Amino acid sequence: MKKEEILRSRTARIGSSLSLSYKNPLQIVRGKMQYLYDENGRAYLDCVNNVAHVGHCHPRVVKAGQEQMAALNTNTRYLHETMVRYAERLCATLPEPLRVCYFVNSGSEANEVALRLARTHTKRRDVIVLDAGYHGNTTTLIEVSSYKFDGPGGSGAPSWVHKVSLPDPYRGEFRRDDPRAGEKYAAQVSNTVDVNRDRVAAFLCETMPSCGGQIIPPEGYLSEAYRHVRANGGVCIADEVQTGFGRVGTHFWAFETQDVVPDIVTMGKPIANGHPFGAVVTTPEIAASFHNGMEYFNTFGGNPVSCAIGLAVLDVIRDEQLQANALHVGSYLSAGLHSLMAKHKLIGDVRGAGLYIGVEFVRDRNTLEPAAEEATHTVNLMKERGILLSTDGPLHNVIKIKPPLVFTKENADTLVSTLDEIL
Ligand code: PMP
Repeated sequence: MKKEEILRSRTARIGSSLSLSYKNPLQIVRGKMQYLYDENGRAYLDCVNNVAHVGHCHPRVVKAGQEQMAALNTNTRYLHETMVRYAERLCATLPEPLRVCYFVNSGSEANEVALRLARTHTKRRDVIVLDAGYHGNTTTLIEVSSYKFDGPGGSGAPSWVHKVSLPDPYRGEFRRDDPRAGEKYAAQVSNTVDVNRDRVAAFLCETMPSCGGQIIPPEGYLSEAYRHVRANGGVCIADEVQTGFGRVGTHFWAFETQDVVPDIVTMGKPIANGHPFGAVVTTPEIAASFHNGMEYFNTFGGNPVSCAIGLAVLDVIRDEQLQANALHVGSYLSAGLHSLMAKHKLIGDVRGAGLYIGVEFVRDRNTLEPAAEEATHTVNLMKERGILLSTDGPLHNVIKIKPPLVFTKENADTLVSTLDEIL
């Protein structure tokens, strides 16, 4: 089909709330490592797809899926070694006591299961969430995602959802110049727990909020927030859907950068390099509470194909040392972006960890007036130059950078020099 035909058919047959990227949408027909190719064979450098974690169509991942599809794909009511091997390998990346897995098909489903675990364990209902947070597309997850319930078409937080400030050290109430910023943001969690005593089942938090604008919370935030929640019997859920599997470079999981151990961790996106898969890992204690007579069945979750692909992804991360690459290339790229910040006033902030970076555009570095149109315009111009990026953040003025982890220093140079020219 021609591009125009696809667009026409899509407009007629697909719900129009499903949006397209870019003013002139792209037709992408092929992917290879950090590159995507359009219908004319033009290559685009993918700087934003953190799902294709080890590279688009990585041959080892493709082979693992093809081989397992040709042998067997069925539900988990039969014994199959792929699921337990995957569970062993995944748990080996996590600290004690995170030792019990549930497998699902998406990040949304992982967060749904996490909320069920928390509610069953605590026998409570309420949830504390961050402003501008996003956790998924289901009914319940829209209700806990401020990015949605506070956004267009949203109808605010339900009574059982309690929102606290985004711990944003650049634009938020407490900033980088305040050494106690983490503690101060966490005090809001403490107040929320106090006001809703014995009602809070969970604190659900993206370790480094993505839709919130690639935010790196101040040091000490999570440990303090977790302490307050636990002191009143709630559990702490780390949404690692965006940040897990080595992306942040220094650690395999982003929560490790904050020196905490969550009670429940949710995973998706990069876990199977684009194949629909997700996981929830929790403690034996919480898992025991969940084993209350109600069976947990999931038709597709944990099937042999998903687990074989998940294993291949873990193998590639290890064998190609992609966590270390995220650290080295990420630091190099951040340094390049900081040098652009020194030159172009439009860049108000560059922040990140490994290959998880945000570039915030402002019209004025004192008032921090957001430069959303400029950010969108830049992203569209970058695309015309063959570089794929997108914007996010509650003010739509943050360019997010989270490429496949096979990104190289040469790719970083291309990104920085093209952005320099456009700015
Ligand atoms: N949590 C976070 C932090 C996410 O960014 C997303 C997806 N953008 C989800 C959960 C939901 O994942 P999925 O789209 O796979 O359901």
